[in-house]
Amino acid sequence: MALIDGLPPLREVIETHGLVAKKSLGQNFLLDLNLTSKIARQAGDLTQCDVLEVGPGPGGLTRGLLAEGARRVLAVEKDSRAMAPLAEIAAAYPDRLEVVNADALAIDPLERLTAPVRIVANLPYNIGTELLVRWLTPAQWPPYWASLTLMFQREVAQRIVAQPGSKTYGRLAILSQWRTDARIVMELPPEAFSPPPKIHSAVVHFTALPAPRFEADAKTLERIVAQGFNQRRKMLRASLKGATLDLEDKLIAAGIKPTQRAEEVGLESWCALARAIKATA
Ligand code: SAM
Repeated sequence: MALIDGLPPLREVIETHGLVAKKSLGQNFLLDLNLTSKIARQAGDLTQCDVLEVGPGPGGLTRGLLAEGARRVLAVEKDSRAMAPLAEIAAAYPDRLEVVNADALAIDPLERLTAPVRIVANLPYNIGTELLVRWLTPAQWPPYWASLTLMFQREVAQRIVAQPGSKTYGRLAILSQWRTDARIVMELPPEAFSPPPKIHSAVVHFTALPAPRFEADAKTLERIVAQGFNQRRKMLRASLKGATLDLEDKLIAAGIKPTQRAEEVGLESWCALARAIKATA
């Protein structure tokens, strides 16, 4: 395996530091530095950017990001066993890697980052969707990040890019496609990881749009989409019951038939419905 830096191979790092993968932390490590560099390249030009990485573990992706020229990487890792190997990487790349030993769900890394920011992560699968939803629903748009390049279970990646009429189309597709350009840029088989997970994985690259594709109040849109897809097989006149006064009139005003189901309604119509509801709220 070709090394991209003067540091030891990842298998050796894991052995030296006794970093036996823990299932509870969603630890499936990438050990091929050519592959981690390839993932880092999917994030675009990093040379002028700060990168936020969640869950660096033994640092395979971190090394890829630094080797690809990231101006600075801020890496947030919950497992204190990973601090020693990450400190070795920080020493090899002076002033370019800061490591925080914390739960990514519990801290706000914003004050440690300088724009432009790209977020790149091989996420722990148990918190991946929750982190994504947080990044997609900030208090203000545009968000502090310019792009997200994230590894998910392939099934979650398919939900993100799904179109109306497909079984996987739902809240994640609408939240993602409303204000970002989201594309699956790589697929990875279980053998790419150690230990191999049971599922296939995929990398999704999201670019933040300067403004939403269609105007809508974020809270209203999030609320009706969550309610509508909660009972996705029901007609909207039933699944959105109680969401607003004069529901059927507003559905019709938005160009939606009250007998349609959530999964048949495109993003533009969801936004039109959010506007019709907000206008009388
Ligand atoms: N980035 C490494 C790689 O690609 O080989 C490791 C990826 S592994 C799928 C997920 C990493 O996230 C693990 O190192 C795990 O310890 C870390 N992690 C799990 N939960 C976390 C949390 N709440 N906050 C920060 N890191 C977490």
